Amino acid sequence: MEKFILPEIKDHHQIDVYEQHGGYAALKKAVQMKPDEVIDEVKKSGLRGRGGACFPTGLKWSFMPKGNDKPKYLAVNGDESEPGTFKDRQIFEFNPHLLIEGIIIGCYAMGINAAYIYIRGEYGKWISMVDKALADAYAKGYIGINILGTGFSTNIYTHQGAGAYICGEESALMNSVEGERGYPRIKPPFPAQRGLWGAPTTINNVETMSNIPLIINKGAEWYSKIGVAKHPGPILVGISGHVNNPGVYEIPTGVPLLTLINDPQYGGGVPGGKSIKAVIPGGSSTMILRGENLEGVNMDADSLKAAGSSVGTAGIMVMDEDTDLVRVLARIAHFYHHESCGQCTPCREGTGWLEKMLHRFEHYEARKEDVDMLVNVANQIEGNTVCALGDAAAWPVQSFVKRFREEFEKRVKEKEEINAA
Ligand code: SF4
Repeated sequence: MEKFILPEIKDHHQIDVYEQHGGYAALKKAVQMKPDEVIDEVKKSGLRGRGGACFPTGLKWSFMPKGNDKPKYLAVNGDESEPGTFKDRQIFEFNPHLLIEGIIIGCYAMGINAAYIYIRGEYGKWISMVDKALADAYAKGYIGINILGTGFSTNIYTHQGAGAYICGEESALMNSVEGERGYPRIKPPFPAQRGLWGAPTTINNVETMSNIPLIINKGAEWYSKIGVAKHPGPILVGISGHVNNPGVYEIPTGVPLLTLINDPQYGGGVPGGKSIKAVIPGGSSTMILRGENLEGVNMDADSLKAAGSSVGTAGIMVMDEDTDLVRVLARIAHFYHHESCGQCTPCREGTGWLEKMLHRFEHYEARKEDVDMLVNVANQIEGNTVCALGDAAAWPVQSFVKRFREEFEKRVKEKEEINAA
Protein backbone atom coordinates (compact mmCIF):
# COMPACT_ATOMS: atom_id res chain seq x y z
CA MET A 1 0.00 0.00 0.00
CA GLU A 2 1.10 3.52 -0.70
CA LYS A 3 2.28 5.22 2.49
CA PHE A 4 0.42 8.38 3.42
CA ILE A 5 1.38 9.07 7.05
CA LEU A 6 5.02 8.04 6.72
CA PRO A 7 5.82 8.31 2.98
CA GLU A 8 9.27 7.16 1.96
CA ILE A 9 10.41 10.58 0.72
CA LYS A 10 13.84 11.89 1.66
CA ASP A 11 13.80 14.96 3.94
CA HIS A 12 10.01 15.01 4.05
CA HIS A 13 10.25 16.65 7.49
CA GLN A 14 11.53 19.81 5.79
CA ILE A 15 8.83 22.29 4.85
CA ASP A 16 10.08 22.86 1.27
CA VAL A 17 10.14 19.13 0.53
CA TYR A 18 6.74 18.73 2.19
CA GLU A 19 5.30 21.50 -0.01
CA GLN A 20 6.88 20.03 -3.16
CA HIS A 21 4.94 16.83 -2.49
CA GLY A 22 1.58 18.54 -2.04
CA GLY A 23 2.01 19.69 1.54
CA TYR A 24 -0.32 22.44 2.82
CA ALA A 25 -2.62 21.99 -0.21
CA ALA A 26 -5.22 20.52 2.14
CA LEU A 27 -5.09 23.62 4.31
CA LYS A 28 -5.54 25.85 1.25
CA LYS A 29 -8.54 23.73 0.27
CA ALA A 30 -10.01 23.62 3.78
CA VAL A 31 -10.06 27.40 4.23
CA GLN A 32 -12.16 27.68 1.04
CA MET A 33 -14.76 25.44 2.73
CA LYS A 34 -17.15 26.43 5.52
CA PRO A 35 -15.95 25.12 8.92
CA ASP A 36 -19.01 22.86 9.21
CA GLU A 37 -18.24 21.39 5.77
CA VAL A 38 -14.77 20.42 7.02
CA ILE A 39 -16.31 18.72 10.07
CA ASP A 40 -18.84 16.92 7.85
CA GLU A 41 -16.03 15.66 5.60
CA VAL A 42 -14.15 14.28 8.60
CA LYS A 43 -17.38 12.66 9.85
CA LYS A 44 -18.06 11.09 6.45
CA SER A 45 -14.51 9.70 6.25
CA GLY A 46 -15.20 7.42 9.22
CA LEU A 47 -11.88 8.37 10.88
CA ARG A 48 -11.71 7.02 14.42
CA GLY A 49 -9.21 8.24 17.01
CA ARG A 50 -5.86 6.51 17.03
CA GLY A 51 -5.14 7.14 20.71
CA GLY A 52 -6.88 4.05 22.05
CA ALA A 53 -10.59 4.78 22.44
CA CYS A 54 -11.37 4.68 18.68
CA PHE A 55 -13.96 7.47 19.07
CA PRO A 56 -15.22 8.96 15.75
CA THR A 57 -13.17 12.13 15.21
CA GLY A 58 -15.75 14.13 13.23
CA LEU A 59 -18.37 13.48 15.90
CA LYS A 60 -15.96 14.64 18.60
CA TRP A 61 -15.31 17.84 16.65
CA SER A 62 -19.04 18.47 16.35
CA PHE A 63 -19.32 18.57 20.18
CA MET A 64 -17.30 21.79 20.20
CA PRO A 65 -19.70 24.70 20.91
CA LYS A 66 -20.17 27.16 18.04
CA GLY A 67 -19.49 30.88 18.37
CA ASN A 68 -16.60 32.89 19.70
CA ASP A 69 -17.91 34.21 23.01
CA LYS A 70 -15.31 32.12 24.90
CA PRO A 71 -11.82 30.96 24.01
CA LYS A 72 -11.65 27.39 22.70
CA TYR A 73 -8.66 25.10 22.69
CA LEU A 74 -7.26 22.07 20.95
CA ALA A 75 -4.93 19.75 22.84
CA VAL A 76 -3.05 17.21 20.75
CA ASN A 77 -1.96 14.21 22.73
CA GLY A 78 1.59 13.09 21.94
CA ASP A 79 2.35 11.76 25.42
CA GLU A 80 2.64 8.26 23.97
CA SER A 81 3.18 6.70 27.38
CA GLU A 82 1.49 3.33 26.86
CA PRO A 83 4.18 0.61 26.98
CA GLY A 84 4.61 -0.93 23.54
CA THR A 85 3.68 2.31 21.73
CA PHE A 86 6.19 4.34 19.73
CA LYS A 87 4.34 5.52 16.62
CA ASP A 88 3.80 9.24 17.24
CA ARG A 89 7.51 9.90 17.45
CA GLN A 90 7.83 8.65 13.86
CA ILE A 91 5.43 11.39 12.81
CA PHE A 92 7.34 14.00 14.86
CA GLU A 93 10.56 12.96 13.13
CA PHE A 94 9.56 12.11 9.59
CA ASN A 95 6.36 14.05 8.86
CA PRO A 96 5.78 16.83 11.41
CA HIS A 97 4.16 19.14 8.85
CA LEU A 98 1.41 16.61 8.18
CA LEU A 99 0.55 16.82 11.88
CA ILE A 100 0.80 20.61 11.91
CA GLU A 101 -1.36 20.92 8.79
CA GLY A 102 -3.97 18.63 10.38
CA ILE A 103 -3.96 20.75 13.54
CA ILE A 104 -4.46 24.02 11.64
CA ILE A 105 -7.36 22.48 9.69
CA GLY A 106 -8.88 21.21 12.95
CA CYS A 107 -8.54 24.66 14.53
CA TYR A 108 -10.19 26.26 11.49
CA ALA A 109 -13.07 23.75 11.53
CA MET A 110 -13.76 24.21 15.25
CA GLY A 111 -13.00 27.96 15.45
CA ILE A 112 -10.02 27.45 17.75
CA ASN A 113 -7.28 30.03 18.15
CA ALA A 114 -4.75 28.10 20.23
CA ALA A 115 -3.53 24.51 20.12
CA TYR A 116 -1.09 22.65 22.35
CA ILE A 117 0.91 19.62 21.23
CA TYR A 118 1.62 17.72 24.45
CA ILE A 119 4.81 15.68 24.11
CA ARG A 120 6.46 13.57 26.78
CA GLY A 121 9.65 15.07 28.17
CA GLU A 122 11.73 12.01 27.27
CA TYR A 123 11.14 12.94 23.62
CA GLY A 124 13.52 15.92 23.80
CA LYS A 125 14.91 15.33 20.31
CA TRP A 126 11.45 15.12 18.81
CA ILE A 127 10.18 18.20 20.68
CA SER A 128 13.02 20.17 19.06
CA MET A 129 12.09 18.78 15.64
CA VAL A 130 8.44 19.76 16.07
CA ASP A 131 9.45 23.23 17.33
CA LYS A 132 11.61 23.70 14.22
CA ALA A 133 8.73 22.61 11.97
CA LEU A 134 6.36 25.00 13.76
CA ALA A 135 8.82 27.88 13.31
CA ASP A 136 9.06 27.11 9.58
CA ALA A 137 5.26 26.95 9.25
CA TYR A 138 4.95 30.31 11.06
CA ALA A 139 7.54 31.81 8.70
CA LYS A 140 5.50 30.67 5.69
CA GLY A 141 2.28 32.15 7.10
CA TYR A 142 0.50 28.83 7.70
CA ILE A 143 0.23 29.53 11.44
CA GLY A 144 -0.29 32.87 13.21
CA ILE A 145 -2.32 35.94 12.35
CA ASN A 146 -4.55 36.01 9.25
CA ILE A 147 -3.57 32.60 7.89
CA LEU A 148 -3.39 32.61 4.06
CA GLY A 149 -5.22 35.96 4.08
CA THR A 150 -8.44 34.38 5.34
CA GLY A 151 -8.80 36.44 8.51
CA PHE A 152 -8.50 33.24 10.54
CA SER A 153 -5.73 33.17 13.14
CA THR A 154 -4.38 30.44 15.37
CA ASN A 155 -1.25 29.67 17.36
CA ILE A 156 0.30 26.27 18.02
CA TYR A 157 2.61 25.53 20.94
CA THR A 158 4.48 22.43 22.09
CA HIS A 159 4.13 21.55 25.76
CA GLN A 160 6.63 19.23 27.38
CA GLY A 161 5.38 16.59 29.81
CA ALA A 162 7.43 15.43 32.79
CA GLY A 163 7.25 11.69 32.29
CA ALA A 164 4.02 10.64 34.05
CA TYR A 165 1.99 7.93 32.28
CA ILE A 166 -1.19 9.44 33.63
CA CYS A 167 -0.63 12.68 31.68
CA GLY A 168 -1.65 10.72 28.59
CA GLU A 169 -5.16 10.66 30.10
CA GLU A 170 -6.95 13.61 28.58
CA SER A 171 -8.04 15.43 31.73
CA ALA A 172 -4.68 14.89 33.50
CA LEU A 173 -3.05 16.20 30.32
CA MET A 174 -5.11 19.38 30.59
CA ASN A 175 -4.09 19.87 34.23
CA SER A 176 -0.49 19.39 33.20
CA VAL A 177 -0.78 21.99 30.42
CA GLU A 178 -2.25 24.40 32.98
CA GLY A 179 0.82 23.86 35.16
CA GLU A 180 -1.06 21.81 37.76
CA ARG A 181 -0.31 18.32 39.06
CA GLY A 182 -1.35 15.69 36.50
CA TYR A 183 -4.47 14.50 38.31
CA PRO A 184 -7.33 13.19 36.13
CA ARG A 185 -10.57 15.13 36.53
CA ILE A 186 -13.97 13.64 37.29
CA LYS A 187 -16.17 13.57 34.16
CA PRO A 188 -18.66 15.06 33.43
CA PRO A 189 -18.08 17.87 32.66
CA PHE A 190 -16.34 16.61 29.54
CA PRO A 191 -13.56 18.65 27.90
CA ALA A 192 -15.88 19.96 25.15
CA GLN A 193 -17.88 21.67 27.92
CA ARG A 194 -15.14 22.50 30.39
CA GLY A 195 -11.57 21.83 29.36
CA LEU A 196 -8.38 23.89 29.44
CA TRP A 197 -8.77 26.88 31.80
CA GLY A 198 -12.49 26.05 32.02
CA ALA A 199 -13.02 26.67 28.30
CA PRO A 200 -14.31 24.20 25.66
CA THR A 201 -11.48 21.94 24.51
CA THR A 202 -11.08 19.15 21.99
CA ILE A 203 -8.40 16.53 22.58
CA ASN A 204 -7.10 14.39 19.73
CA ASN A 205 -4.16 12.07 19.30
CA VAL A 206 -1.15 13.00 17.13
CA GLU A 207 -1.78 10.24 14.58
CA THR A 208 -5.47 11.13 14.40
CA MET A 209 -4.67 14.73 13.46
CA SER A 210 -2.14 13.51 10.88
CA ASN A 211 -4.98 11.83 8.97
CA ILE A 212 -6.91 15.09 8.49
CA PRO A 213 -4.93 16.50 5.49
CA LEU A 214 -5.45 13.20 3.61
CA ILE A 215 -9.20 13.37 4.13
CA ILE A 216 -9.43 16.99 2.95
CA ASN A 217 -7.04 16.49 0.03
CA LYS A 218 -8.48 13.31 -1.40
CA GLY A 219 -12.00 13.37 0.00
CA ALA A 220 -13.91 11.44 2.61
CA GLU A 221 -15.10 8.86 0.12
CA TRP A 222 -11.57 7.99 -0.97
CA TYR A 223 -10.43 7.77 2.65
CA SER A 224 -13.36 5.63 3.78
CA LYS A 225 -12.40 2.94 1.24
CA ILE A 226 -8.95 2.34 2.79
CA GLY A 227 -8.97 -0.74 5.00
CA VAL A 228 -12.03 -1.84 6.95
CA ALA A 229 -15.32 0.05 6.44
CA LYS A 230 -16.12 0.56 10.13
CA HIS A 231 -12.58 1.57 11.09
CA PRO A 232 -11.05 2.92 7.90
CA GLY A 233 -7.80 4.57 6.94
CA PRO A 234 -4.10 4.03 7.26
CA ILE A 235 -2.91 3.08 10.74
CA LEU A 236 0.56 2.96 12.28
CA VAL A 237 1.32 -0.25 14.12
CA GLY A 238 4.35 -0.67 16.37
CA ILE A 239 5.59 -4.25 16.50
CA SER A 240 7.91 -5.21 19.35
CA GLY A 241 9.02 -8.21 21.38
CA HIS A 242 10.00 -11.52 19.82
CA VAL A 243 10.02 -10.61 16.13
CA ASN A 244 12.90 -10.37 13.70
CA ASN A 245 12.00 -6.88 12.46
CA PRO A 246 10.60 -4.74 15.28
CA GLY A 247 9.45 -1.30 14.16
CA VAL A 248 6.58 0.96 13.12
CA TYR A 249 4.66 0.00 9.98
CA GLU A 250 1.93 1.87 8.12
CA ILE A 251 -0.87 -0.44 7.00
CA PRO A 252 -4.50 -0.17 5.97
CA THR A 253 -6.69 -1.27 8.90
CA GLY A 254 -7.73 -4.92 8.78
CA VAL A 255 -4.40 -6.61 7.99
CA PRO A 256 -4.25 -10.04 9.71
CA LEU A 257 -2.28 -10.01 12.94
CA LEU A 258 -0.35 -13.12 11.86
CA THR A 259 0.70 -11.37 8.62
CA LEU A 260 2.01 -8.44 10.65
CA ILE A 261 4.01 -10.77 12.87
CA ASN A 262 5.33 -13.17 10.22
CA ASP A 263 5.51 -11.39 6.85
CA PRO A 264 9.07 -10.29 5.92
CA GLN A 265 7.79 -6.78 5.05
CA TYR A 266 6.55 -6.42 8.67
CA GLY A 267 7.67 -8.33 11.79
CA GLY A 268 9.48 -11.04 9.81
CA GLY A 269 8.56 -13.93 12.12
CA VAL A 270 9.72 -15.07 15.53
CA PRO A 271 13.52 -15.47 15.99
CA GLY A 272 14.67 -19.07 15.87
CA GLY A 273 11.38 -20.14 14.29
CA LYS A 274 9.84 -20.48 17.75
CA SER A 275 6.09 -20.57 18.19
CA ILE A 276 4.06 -17.62 19.43
CA LYS A 277 2.84 -18.09 22.97
CA ALA A 278 0.99 -14.80 23.34
CA VAL A 279 0.34 -11.41 21.78
CA ILE A 280 -0.75 -8.15 23.36
CA PRO A 281 -2.23 -6.34 20.33
CA GLY A 282 -2.67 -2.70 21.34
CA GLY A 283 -0.31 -1.63 24.11
CA SER A 284 0.11 -3.04 27.62
CA SER A 285 -3.41 -2.28 28.82
CA THR A 286 -5.13 -4.32 26.11
CA MET A 287 -6.12 -7.91 26.74
CA ILE A 288 -3.61 -10.64 25.91
CA LEU A 289 -4.39 -13.24 23.23
CA ARG A 290 -3.16 -16.83 22.98
CA GLY A 291 -0.83 -17.55 20.08
CA GLU A 292 -2.95 -20.45 18.83
CA ASN A 293 -6.05 -18.21 18.66
CA LEU A 294 -4.67 -15.59 16.26
CA GLU A 295 -6.01 -17.12 13.04
CA GLY A 296 -8.66 -14.78 11.58
CA VAL A 297 -7.82 -11.90 13.94
CA ASN A 298 -7.21 -8.64 12.07
CA MET A 299 -5.77 -5.29 13.06
CA ASP A 300 -8.99 -3.30 13.35
CA ALA A 301 -11.34 -2.36 16.14
CA ASP A 302 -14.16 -4.83 15.47
CA SER A 303 -11.99 -7.87 14.73
CA LEU A 304 -9.93 -7.38 17.89
CA LYS A 305 -13.07 -6.77 19.94
CA ALA A 306 -14.54 -10.03 18.66
CA ALA A 307 -11.30 -11.78 19.65
CA GLY A 308 -11.64 -10.43 23.19
CA SER A 309 -9.16 -7.57 23.08
CA SER A 310 -8.89 -4.12 21.51
CA VAL A 311 -6.85 -2.17 18.99
CA GLY A 312 -5.73 0.34 21.65
CA THR A 313 -2.69 2.24 20.41
CA ALA A 314 -1.81 -0.55 17.94
CA GLY A 315 1.33 -1.48 19.88
CA ILE A 316 1.67 -5.20 19.12
CA MET A 317 3.85 -7.08 21.62
CA VAL A 318 4.82 -10.61 20.60
CA MET A 319 5.94 -13.25 23.11
CA ASP A 320 7.48 -16.56 22.06
CA GLU A 321 7.03 -20.03 23.56
CA ASP A 322 9.75 -19.49 26.19
CA THR A 323 8.24 -16.35 27.69
CA ASP A 324 7.49 -16.39 31.42
CA LEU A 325 4.06 -14.77 31.42
CA VAL A 326 3.88 -14.57 35.21
CA ARG A 327 6.99 -12.42 35.09
CA VAL A 328 5.56 -10.32 32.24
CA LEU A 329 2.38 -9.64 34.20
CA ALA A 330 4.36 -8.85 37.35
CA ARG A 331 6.29 -6.24 35.34
CA ILE A 332 3.09 -4.73 33.91
CA ALA A 333 1.52 -4.60 37.39
CA HIS A 334 4.60 -2.84 38.76
CA PHE A 335 4.27 -0.24 36.00
CA TYR A 336 0.61 0.57 36.70
CA HIS A 337 1.17 0.70 40.47
CA HIS A 338 4.09 3.06 39.97
CA GLU A 339 2.08 5.26 37.59
CA SER A 340 -1.14 5.43 39.65
CA CYS A 341 -1.66 9.07 40.63
CA GLY A 342 -3.05 7.91 43.99
CA GLN A 343 -6.19 10.01 43.78
CA CYS A 344 -8.76 7.21 44.16
CA THR A 345 -8.63 4.26 46.55
CA PRO A 346 -9.36 1.24 44.29
CA CYS A 347 -6.52 2.21 41.95
CA ARG A 348 -4.05 3.47 44.56
CA GLU A 349 -4.47 0.44 46.85
CA GLY A 350 -5.56 -2.16 44.29
CA THR A 351 -2.61 -1.70 41.94
CA GLY A 352 -0.32 -2.12 44.97
CA TRP A 353 -2.08 -5.33 45.96
CA LEU A 354 -1.79 -6.66 42.42
CA GLU A 355 1.90 -5.91 42.33
CA LYS A 356 2.51 -7.59 45.71
CA MET A 357 0.50 -10.68 44.79
CA LEU A 358 2.26 -11.02 41.45
CA HIS A 359 5.60 -10.66 43.21
CA ARG A 360 4.55 -13.69 45.28
CA PHE A 361 3.70 -15.64 42.11
CA GLU A 362 6.95 -14.67 40.48
CA HIS A 363 8.98 -15.80 43.49
CA TYR A 364 7.14 -19.09 44.10
CA GLU A 365 5.42 -17.79 47.24
CA ALA A 366 1.78 -17.71 46.06
CA ARG A 367 -0.97 -19.99 47.40
CA LYS A 368 -3.52 -21.87 45.33
CA GLU A 369 -6.33 -19.46 46.30
CA ASP A 370 -4.24 -16.47 45.16
CA VAL A 371 -5.08 -17.21 41.50
CA ASP A 372 -8.75 -16.32 42.04
CA MET A 373 -7.89 -13.57 44.50
CA LEU A 374 -5.78 -11.89 41.84
CA VAL A 375 -8.79 -11.72 39.53
CA ASN A 376 -11.02 -10.65 42.40
CA VAL A 377 -8.81 -7.65 43.18
CA ALA A 378 -8.70 -6.70 39.48
CA ASN A 379 -12.51 -6.93 39.33
CA GLN A 380 -12.81 -4.56 42.32
CA ILE A 381 -10.70 -1.97 40.49
CA GLU A 382 -12.34 -2.17 37.05
CA GLY A 383 -15.02 0.50 36.53
CA ASN A 384 -14.60 1.93 40.05
CA THR A 385 -12.04 4.62 39.49
CA VAL A 386 -11.88 8.26 38.38
CA CYS A 387 -9.96 7.52 35.19
CA ALA A 388 -9.16 4.63 32.90
CA LEU A 389 -5.82 3.77 34.54
CA GLY A 390 -7.76 1.53 36.92
CA ASP A 391 -9.17 -0.43 33.99
CA ALA A 392 -5.77 -0.42 32.29
CA ALA A 393 -4.29 -2.09 35.38
CA ALA A 394 -7.16 -4.58 35.75
CA TRP A 395 -7.54 -5.81 32.16
CA PRO A 396 -4.09 -7.38 31.78
CA VAL A 397 -4.54 -9.27 35.07
CA GLN A 398 -8.02 -10.49 34.16
CA SER A 399 -6.98 -11.58 30.67
CA PHE A 400 -3.64 -13.16 31.62
CA VAL A 401 -5.33 -15.33 34.25
CA LYS A 402 -8.33 -16.12 32.05
CA ARG A 403 -6.23 -17.14 29.04
CA PHE A 404 -3.13 -18.53 30.75
CA ARG A 405 -4.45 -19.79 34.08
CA GLU A 406 -2.22 -22.83 33.83
CA GLU A 407 0.90 -20.63 34.06
CA PHE A 408 -0.21 -19.27 37.44
CA GLU A 409 -1.32 -22.66 38.76
CA LYS A 410 1.98 -24.17 37.63
CA ARG A 411 3.83 -21.57 39.70
CA VAL A 412 1.87 -22.65 42.80
CA LYS A 413 2.49 -26.34 42.07
CA GLU A 414 6.21 -25.69 41.61
CA LYS A 415 6.22 -23.92 44.98
CA GLU A 416 4.64 -26.97 46.61
CA GLU A 417 7.24 -29.23 44.96
CA ILE A 418 10.07 -26.96 46.17
CA ASN A 419 8.65 -27.07 49.72
CA ALA A 420 8.21 -30.86 49.60
CA ALA A 421 11.77 -31.47 48.41
FE1 SF4 B 1 -5.39 8.34 39.67
FE2 SF4 B 1 -5.64 5.69 39.32
FE3 SF4 B 1 -7.71 7.10 40.13
FE4 SF4 B 1 -6.79 7.40 37.62
S1 SF4 B 1 -7.71 5.58 38.47
S2 SF4 B 1 -7.42 9.02 39.03
S3 SF4 B 1 -4.57 7.14 37.99
S4 SF4 B 1 -5.77 6.83 41.28
